[in-house]
Amino acid sequence: MPGTDRRVVVLNAGSSSLKFAAYPPDPEAPPLLSGAVDGIGNSAHLKIMDADGRVTHDIAVSASDPHAAMAILAGLKDGPLAGDLAAFGHRIVHGGPDLDRSVVVDEATLARIEAVSPLAPLHNPPALDVLKGLQKRFPRVPHVACFDTAFHRGHPAVADRFAIPDSLYQEGVRRYGFHGLSYQYIAGAMQTKAPEIAGGKVVAAHLGSGASMCALMDGHSIDSSMGFTALDGLPMGTRSGSLDAGVILWLQQQKGWSVDRVEHFLYHDCGLQGLSGLSNDIRVLLASDAPLAKMAVDYFVYHIARTAGALAVSMGGIDGLVFTAGIGEHSVPIRARVLARLRWLGFDVDETANQRGQGRITASSSRLRAYIIPTDEERVIARETIGLLSGRWLTVC
Ligand code: ADP
Repeated sequence: MPGTDRRVVVLNAGSSSLKFAAYPPDPEAPPLLSGAVDGIGNSAHLKIMDADGRVTHDIAVSASDPHAAMAILAGLKDGPLAGDLAAFGHRIVHGGPDLDRSVVVDEATLARIEAVSPLAPLHNPPALDVLKGLQKRFPRVPHVACFDTAFHRGHPAVADRFAIPDSLYQEGVRRYGFHGLSYQYIAGAMQTKAPEIAGGKVVAAHLGSGASMCALMDGHSIDSSMGFTALDGLPMGTRSGSLDAGVILWLQQQKGWSVDRVEHFLYHDCGLQGLSGLSNDIRVLLASDAPLAKMAVDYFVYHIARTAGALAVSMGGIDGLVFTAGIGEHSVPIRARVLARLRWLGFDVDETANQRGQGRITASSSRLRAYIIPTDEERVIARETIGLLSGRWLTVC
């Protein structure tokens, strides 16, 4: 292990945000600091919290892309990139068919991530930009790439394929599944936070601005609502979720939309935003009386419940449900409405526990159990990074 004054920096780059956290060499210790640059490209804002959760920076910054945000962080004397850097750990959304576990980054890894970048256009390119920028600035510090797809690579064939010719499957057209770092965290955290169901059949619902659900059997993913790209499955803030492929053909053939226009539409103009015509934020929709806002919320809840049923079938049963991510952890009405739809299956919500917003939220008499477990993708990346590099530190440092 490196000296205790060294730090491991975890980075999670999206198209408009760069989240970060710096850990001591012990991955179970609280982060030394954490934060994000949000609103990149528009009105960027930097926020950093210290180990005690005290805000040390809360300022407007000028960053046109995540690489520029990284350069701002590198310029801070007391930011995440200051001090003695032992390693960088990166969240990479798409690892394609070959990258089925976290890896120490080399040229071949970069080429593989680059090759599947079109499948995660909002995430892989900015993550690569940040990674390469850091390689230039800190040439001696190793990088570990952690993939959201890796946790799902053990899916059975029926959950890993589309009904298309095998030759396309061999070329990588597969149902990968995403949010794997979050589900990996949940699978581990259930051991202490939901021990009654941890070894059983659990549907985990990661409901953030991106949203997906995962079937966990004894902590292993066996199916996911997401497929080839992070467009599939549940409706999201601005992404469509599952869509008949015929709609894409119709947009191109009948409306003459270009591929770029269709891509922008599916990632930015659909989901809650598209349905409501009002907002991608569930809080705004829940507070609105507009009929389309109500319909967007109904659609979201309906598809979460419907997907829970489908994933229960994938597992041949269900013992419990875990809510996580921004909406899953914080939205009392969305959890209540999902569980009300699943009441017939055996979920009996405890209103007071749901209002409290942590731990178990079903009644003690409920046949099935539901929990809120806050996710921590950065922690998983720190664990993977330190785990992969500890041998190297022993010999090099
Ligand atoms: P991501 O990491 O995908 O950006 P998060 O897991 O941080 O997403 O979730 C962000 C989403 O969570 C936002 O779109 C917002 O609608 C929702 N959210 C955050 N806080 C709350 C809250 N208190 N109540 C309801 N929804 C919330």
